[in-house]
Amino acid sequence: MLNIKEIQTIEHDVVVVGAGGAGIRAAIECANRGMNTGMISKSLLGKAHTVMAEGGMAAALGNVDSRDNWKIHFRDTMRGGKFLNQWRMAEHHAKEAPERVRELEDMGAVFDRTKDGLINQRNFGGHRYPRLAHVGDRTGLEMIRTLQDFCIHQGIATHMECIALDVLKTKGKVSGLVAYWRETGRFVIFKTKAIIFATGGAGRAWSVTSNSWEYTGDGLGMAYRAGAELLDLEFTQFHPTGMIWPPSVKGILVTEGVRGEGGILLNNKNERFMFNYIPEKFAAETADTIEEAERWLNGDREARRPPELLTRDVVAKAIMKEVKAGRGSKNGGAYLDIASRQSAEHIKKKLPSMYHQFKELAEVDITKEPMEVGPTLHYFMGGIKVDHDTQSTNIPGLYACGECAAGLHGANRLGGNSLSDLLVFGKRSGEYASQYCKDNQLEPANEQDIAEIIRKATDILNKEEGKNPFVIHEDLQKIMNNHVGIVREEKELIEGIKKIEDLKTDIAQVKAHPTSQYNPGWNAAIDLSNIIIASEAVAKSALLREESRGGHTRLDFPDETEKGLEYNVVIKQGDNGEMETQKEMRSAPPENLSKIALSSLQDLEGENE
Ligand SMILES: Cc1cc2nc3c(=O)[nH]c(=O)nc-3n(C[C@H](O)[C@H](O)[C@H](O)COP(=O)(O)OP(=O)(O)OC[C@H]3O[C@@H](n4cnc5c(N)ncnc54)[C@H](O)[C@@H]3O)c2cc1C
Repeated sequence: MLNIKEIQTIEHDVVVVGAGGAGIRAAIECANRGMNTGMISKSLLGKAHTVMAEGGMAAALGNVDSRDNWKIHFRDTMRGGKFLNQWRMAEHHAKEAPERVRELEDMGAVFDRTKDGLINQRNFGGHRYPRLAHVGDRTGLEMIRTLQDFCIHQGIATHMECIALDVLKTKGKVSGLVAYWRETGRFVIFKTKAIIFATGGAGRAWSVTSNSWEYTGDGLGMAYRAGAELLDLEFTQFHPTGMIWPPSVKGILVTEGVRGEGGILLNNKNERFMFNYIPEKFAAETADTIEEAERWLNGDREARRPPELLTRDVVAKAIMKEVKAGRGSKNGGAYLDIASRQSAEHIKKKLPSMYHQFKELAEVDITKEPMEVGPTLHYFMGGIKVDHDTQSTNIPGLYACGECAAGLHGANRLGGNSLSDLLVFGKRSGEYASQYCKDNQLEPANEQDIAEIIRKATDILNKEEGKNPFVIHEDLQKIMNNHVGIVREEKELIEGIKKIEDLKTDIAQVKAHPTSQYNPGWNAAIDLSNIIIASEAVAKSALLREESRGGHTRLDFPDETEKGLEYNVVIKQGDNGEMETQKEMRSAPPENLSKIALSSLQDLEGENE
């Protein structure tokens, strides 16, 4: 019999699950507000997915182009998200990002500089002006390094290689969390009043992805099981430029910074094809001749931006269409050329990681020859549904921020808006979770619930026979690639959902070698219970949204519809344990924000109120 009293127990006011940019920023805020704060992470501190971020963080600092301001950033974010974003979140983000970036600098981040010594900003897709504060193409590394150094001086308890299994609730409120140590396989109970999920996305559900091993949708799965709602999971971003050759590195990201620095996309006829794919909505603000695009690159403030810097959904689909029309690159993508556009010295200075990545992984010297690129699953716009001010979920005491939370990005995220999202909403979640802790008592956790969570995990070790978790994961990736990919249609989705259902039976029979110390098979088997929820939620939401918008493309419903703008897709676990999907009507946008989003650029330039 399991004796709960013998299990290690740790008490904190707040437990932050995840030590990426969002989690650490949230933990810093909690500690600043006097909370006894614990932060747990699947990997070692500093090794979260955020470390991989390359191009930069978007904030309307106006350092490189003084015409920029929060209203234009807000407008770009709404237009990029195809107006399905949560309006207030987009407002908070655009208004607060500059302060959060300066604060990061105060904590010690060393950004690239302008000639005048200000934080330098680079161009990126969908952003009207140079807006991404960056450190070469290693911005995520600098962000994590800074936050991590800062947080360990704030008295935050960091529990590394500690994997959260499930939330504990008492009287409907958060009362704790059960986790296990990766090294020993031993369980640990966290007693806590509030939990902030900052666990990132679930990109590992696809085989071609830029995402790291941690992205198995744990926060989504745990929140769902705890009764929280998920929002807009159909919007999964396929980044247009992942590596496509050699096969062993397929999916690894090629930063949008390459195009920001002047890189162009070419087909096998050496044509700059993006000029043929400018959507009507963006036509007025996009160069329609090579001559104008070149003037823009050379700094002409009157010239419009090149079409290579259109939003990611547009560029990814354009590459797919070129390939389908027989104009793809040798290995089925497009050519991305920076070599003929910038000097070797400039490329090595501004894109050092890209230079090394191609040299070492593909034996391509990007200062001399073009790269081959194609779409890769990159980001979850959807996630845990949160309040637009506080980041709280519908479960008292449960909060979410960063990539695992939904709302800011709508149907499509602009590059650079994630890193600033982490800072803005990491801070906000910490602020409101702390307030919640001050107003609420710690409730005792139910021992039966703890035992049940542990039993579920150990069952995997105690089977005589069963299925291999790695094989199941691969099967899932095939299903998601084939049925819930960059373009979708009803028949494929229905078949995919059926296959996901069947896979649940396999997951119920999953088995790992019966030792719990550093057992990757056991770890992977546990992850399956979350990634399957994320995958099912994506597929079911994708079936419900009968239109194409942003990161969600339906062959059978190829256009955006007026109706599609009226609702969000909400998912929750029904009383019978089945996944329920419904359309939730959106309320009318705040008038002042709607006016800004629909204003012309000229109306907004130079406005800072
Ligand atoms: C290659 C690449 C380049 C990118 N470049 C940019 C860019 O230039 N600009 C930009 O804005 N965005 C960029 N992005 C996106 C951005 O990096 C991510 O969206 C962002 O870093 C997510 O941060 P996060 O804090 O939400 O999660 P993460 O940084 O992924 O952190 C998640 C944390 O949760 C932990 N965790 C997960 N599950 C559990 C569990 N069960 N128990 C305990 N801990 C758990 C993990 O260990 C980790 O610590 C890029 C993404 C990639 C892949």
